[in-house]
Amino acid sequence: MHTQTTSPMTDTVTATQPNDSLTTPAPNSLPPITILDGGMGRELERRGAPFRQPEWSALSLSLAPDSVRDVHLDYIKAGATVITVNSYAVTPYHLGDSFFSEGEQLIRTAAQLAFEAVQESEKQVDRQQASKKPNHSAAVQIAGCLPPLFGSYHPDLFDSTQAPTIARPLLSAQIDYVDMWLVETQSSIVEAQTWHQLITEFTATQKESISNKVITSKKEATSRKESISKPIWIAFTLDDSQLDIATDDLDSSAEPSRAVSKPMLRSGESVAEAVQAMMALNVDAVLFNCSQPEVMNAALQTAKELIDKASHPMQLGVYANAFVSKQVHKQANAQLRDMREDNTPEHYLTWAELWQASGANIIGGCCGIGVEHIERLAQHL
Ligand SMILES: [Zn+2]
Repeated sequence: MHTQTTSPMTDTVTATQPNDSLTTPAPNSLPPITILDGGMGRELERRGAPFRQPEWSALSLSLAPDSVRDVHLDYIKAGATVITVNSYAVTPYHLGDSFFSEGEQLIRTAAQLAFEAVQESEKQVDRQQASKKPNHSAAVQIAGCLPPLFGSYHPDLFDSTQAPTIARPLLSAQIDYVDMWLVETQSSIVEAQTWHQLITEFTATQKESISNKVITSKKEATSRKESISKPIWIAFTLDDSQLDIATDDLDSSAEPSRAVSKPMLRSGESVAEAVQAMMALNVDAVLFNCSQPEVMNAALQTAKELIDKASHPMQLGVYANAFVSKQVHKQANAQLRDMREDNTPEHYLTWAELWQASGANIIGGCCGIGVEHIERLAQHL
């Protein structure tokens, strides 16, 4: 158990360590937790599935679909209550022009594989294990992945005029399989706002097309329209470039200097602005993902304060990565990156407990956080 030593919010926050400043409320005051899955790419790689740049995790959709289904299933068995469709890399950034000829089918395959994994898990006795904690959601849901349309960590490449063409197949090929939309790794507010607008417009078009069809009953039409409107979760990636956890520091017990300025997106915009913008859109959850765990808690605290002040029902979530920070400045998509040496399930759980105490009720893992990590979260949160 950790003791309560929280420090007041200031303009300059110090990146937290999992073992300090942890407020642990009484168990019954913690909100119910939704456990997300972890990263897909490294788990595919571990199983010997093809995994290389530039196609990245999209390659397995055509060459090793069984492996993709198996990874989903393993995450469910580990206790994930939301799994995310493996469509992250199905964009022109990764697939080039073949996105425009093959993308939609690959995205549909990805959604089907997630759906099959959930169906399979329901048949298996092991599934009972996944929802054994009373504060976890009971049923496994599928999040439709809506990735950065022009590459991860690239607010500079964002092009709103091209966005609808790339977004359309990501929405249309997943909609029949998913319970919510998860917009991932957004580097700027405009990226997230554009995705929100595209989802909203797509949903309206779908509803319109139902209205124009002959439906057997009004009840059926209403229920189909309801199933088209899905919760929207938006995840921002944070600037973690100020953290200087040199690879060579990791084997020493000395704590490197971790003073960071107020939490920011990779665009340089503040987390506070991003959270305000998402509350204005009434998104269902705002999350922070694909950044190092050290920067997440300051963002959560900022978000929580704003959400509470506005009495907004928006949920909060986190799924960090395990990248070695020295390489953060290199392009996220350009190579397979090294993972930090302290990336153990136990260490990640300590972070997750901190985030839970700060108000996050959706917690999972991004790149480099695997099945064992998620299992540990599901057992202990
Ligand atoms: Zn990631």
